[in-house]
Amino acid sequence: MRIKIYTFCLCEKLLAAAKFAMKPLRVILRTMNVSENAASRNGFAVRADRVSRHYKMGEALIRAVDQISLEIRAGEFLALLGASGSGKSTLLNLIAGLDRPSSGAILAQGRDLAAMSSEELASHRSQTIGIVFQSFQLLPRMTLEENVELPLRLAEVPRGERPARVREALDRVGLGARVKHRPTELSGGEQQRAAIARALVNRPMILLADEPTGNLDTKTGEEIMNLIAEIHRPPSGPGRTVIMVTHERGLAERCADRIVTLSDGAISREERLR
Ligand code: ADP
Ligand code: MG
Repeated sequence: MRIKIYTFCLCEKLLAAAKFAMKPLRVILRTMNVSENAASRNGFAVRADRVSRHYKMGEALIRAVDQISLEIRAGEFLALLGASGSGKSTLLNLIAGLDRPSSGAILAQGRDLAAMSSEELASHRSQTIGIVFQSFQLLPRMTLEENVELPLRLAEVPRGERPARVREALDRVGLGARVKHRPTELSGGEQQRAAIARALVNRPMILLADEPTGNLDTKTGEEIMNLIAEIHRPPSGPGRTVIMVTHERGLAERCADRIVTLSDGAISREERLR
């Protein structure tokens, strides 16, 4: 069920971005650059202000996310921890702009997501946010290079620049030799690496990951965590803001600057580690 929802979200995102690609992009990108400057001035990559996401199920009201306020610094690595059903994925999808809150506001890179049209939101997701899911979400009929190229096509990156960008992203995750392979020809760890390359190819400021090691064995999961940690703080060049959902405290403690624990849709604990 959840995989279906995510697939739907991803398809909807791709379609919305494709529709948007027909429109003049530069005007909106100019607005985004202004906002990115604003974001670097106030130092926050993401702010959630009393955000709620409630679902009505017959008579019952499910408070998946309930009045959460959270500020995530630019360049911070935040881990969202919590039991199954505590609201982690719902909150991450709100931050990603894949879902809209029932009330409250989300600001990403200084921009209020609620004030964006669906086209602006699609553009924002494509330019500013990279997302990695537990179930990889690669398109099975496409080769790795085609999968990784897709966000570049949607962002209207000129055709001539794309092969080098795809190569760079796949090299970065150690899959430079597998570009012609299809996802089914790869191990789970390799598929997640390819999904990370796809998330990074547009050079987003923020990487979101929902249980990225959830479908992997311990050793492969640790390799993926090391990769995400290196994306957060590379040996050279600028780092990225990372927001990662996990239910494994050990993984969170190793990499995150801060752990926020959710219970029943609210923040129950906050720990600063670094
Ligand atoms: P987690 O990622 O922490 O496991 P979720 O954010 O997926 O939790 O879900 C939080 C709560 O919201 C759960 O009780 C879940 O059943 C409910 N929920 C999530 N998505 C929906 C939906 N589309 N419709 C109804 N309830 C939902
Ligand atoms: Mg979840």
